[in-house]
Amino acid sequence: TQKPQPKPKWLRVKLPTGKKYTELRGLVDKYNLHTICTSGSCPNMGECWTEGTATFMILGNMCTRSCGFCGVKTGRPQMVDWDEPEKVARSIKIMNIKHAVVTSVDRDDLKDMGSIIWAETVKAIRRMNPETTLETLIPDFQGVTRNIDRIIAVKPEVVSHNMETVKRLTREVRIQAKYERSLEVLRYLKEQGIERTKSGIMLGLGETEEEVIRTLEDLRSVGLDIVTLGQYLQPSKKHLPVKEFIPPEQFRKYEEIGLEMGFRHVESGALVRSSYKAQKHLT
Ligand code: SF4
Ligand code: SF4
Repeated sequence: TQKPQPKPKWLRVKLPTGKKYTELRGLVDKYNLHTICTSGSCPNMGECWTEGTATFMILGNMCTRSCGFCGVKTGRPQMVDWDEPEKVARSIKIMNIKHAVVTSVDRDDLKDMGSIIWAETVKAIRRMNPETTLETLIPDFQGVTRNIDRIIAVKPEVVSHNMETVKRLTREVRIQAKYERSLEVLRYLKEQGIERTKSGIMLGLGETEEEVIRTLEDLRSVGLDIVTLGQYLQPSKKHLPVKEFIPPEQFRKYEEIGLEMGFRHVESGALVRSSYKAQKHLT
């Protein structure tokens, strides 16, 4: 077996501090609010929360899929909670979030794959927080347009769907997903008039530079506006190992290449997560 590599210094981060962060942390604990930022112990919490951005996960915390990189548990999912849209909307209000990112587990067990709760959540957030802008980081809904249409109808400011990796590694990294199908979802969103489409890939899973560039080209070819590239980190020993820590210069190179290709925004760096600096992507 491969010995885990020690983390390079550019991946060590300071604990979040600051008044706004402490205030929000207090509210989250007091009202028992659920954010990905806290449950995934994201290193960017200090920065995002200070800017008024947070990520919420809907449709439970048990996923029907079993992607090799993901820390979310796989299993029989919970019953749908029809009060969830209201609960998320209230959390956003309590935390005074200016830009909310909403994401979900995959619900291949449901006939609508969760798309109805998705749309209801966006509507509830809009009702309770008319000033808050939204990014919906959606699953592929198995490419069923009837489900994707429910998201398009509620017009989130940004709609994202992550490719996660290059084509060759897709089977290994997210077994139930397909590279082409994800690209088609992104193409469809753009064709249907979503103003800002976004996707993300993780690096360090064994992909080559050529493959990364190819993926960026594929994403550009479906009209994608915003792309994020970050370092993959292994959530536990049971997950896919890190093959390589990508140095900062390489991330900068991808950023330049991406901007040259014509993406509106390229977020590329070791600590970049798909919702990192999400508010910036509204411009
Ligand atoms: Fe939360 Fe995403 Fe920011 Fe991390 S990058 S703190 S998950 S909003
Ligand atoms: Fe994780 Fe999403 Fe894959 Fe489910 S579908 S295992 S939540 S990455």
